[in-house]
Amino acid sequence: MFACTGYAATAADARLAPFSLDRRDPGPRDVRIDITHCGVCHSDIHTARSEWPGTLYPCVPGHEIVGRVAEVGAEVTKYKVGDQVGVGCMVDSCRECESCRAGLEQYCEPGARFTYNSPDIGGLSHTFGGYAQAVVVDQDFVLRIPEGLDLAAAAPLLCAGITTWSPLRHWGIGPGKRVGVVGLGGLGHMGVKLAVAMGAEVTLFTTSANKAEDGRRLGAHRVVISRDADAMKAEAGRFDFILDCVSAQHDINAYFALLRLDGALVQVGLPEKPIEVQMFSLVGKRRTFAGSLIGGIAETQEMLDFCGEHGITADIEMIAMDEINEAYERMIASDVKYRFVIDMATMPKAA
Ligand SMILES: [Zn+2]
Ligand SMILES: [Zn+2]
Repeated sequence: MFACTGYAATAADARLAPFSLDRRDPGPRDVRIDITHCGVCHSDIHTARSEWPGTLYPCVPGHEIVGRVAEVGAEVTKYKVGDQVGVGCMVDSCRECESCRAGLEQYCEPGARFTYNSPDIGGLSHTFGGYAQAVVVDQDFVLRIPEGLDLAAAAPLLCAGITTWSPLRHWGIGPGKRVGVVGLGGLGHMGVKLAVAMGAEVTLFTTSANKAEDGRRLGAHRVVISRDADAMKAEAGRFDFILDCVSAQHDINAYFALLRLDGALVQVGLPEKPIEVQMFSLVGKRRTFAGSLIGGIAETQEMLDFCGEHGITADIEMIAMDEINEAYERMIASDVKYRFVIDMATMPKAA
């Protein structure tokens, strides 16, 4: 094992602080990555603060990891020292179940091993995420970041990017499709960029008129202010697909009404409380209401390659490691455009 410095929460109500953590020595199929940047996802906050059940402490969050390969095991064939790589939400899975064989490791039946807060291997209690100087990951769960993409701005592709890409691909979005994206935050801004690059006609739904201009700058062809009841009514039956990225409580039935026959609304934001669904708004036009969780390793690579070809990255605000607690507060207040990314060069030298 080797030690590196990270940032951890030691309890639900503790601020994140410097922490010395152990990583396993790279095995034959492992890649050791020197982390240059890590995106900051809402899941990091939910886990660090025990807002979802089952947080193991100390908790080192971070699953939008990018960096360079520093060392490879003897059997590693996919990567060499110096390669620009990333790690997303998963670091392993059973590899045998139906989901894993289909390349959908995020739905692994015994459960994927997540990048943080999962049982670890190599004598370590639980997995530690990317708020750290280094990480050791099996080569099969390492992603290649296309050269030419800015590493820092590519980091959020590993969670926010794949979370929006996977349902867009699964529902066959492309030219001729009318797509709605609800909410312009970390997820929504990636949803807009990706759906536009896929060739769809994209409409952004936002509650705040001052995000309309930003929506257009990101590529949205149309913007609808969702508080405007008349404007919403005018959109009835228009959409093939709506990607709902909002995690706050909101009236989802207003969006079902905007779907055409056989249209689908896919929820990727995670509201805390149950959502009320009016069945009449679904059965009338055989509409589908679905959820979607991140994406498999192969489709994550496909998304990264697509982003490399189209020059797509996230809009980010870079922060120093010791600004993480303030960044959490700003994220809760929706005060970020549109993703914080930690510059790992600012990690204190020793904890
Ligand atoms: Zn995430
Ligand atoms: Zn599996």
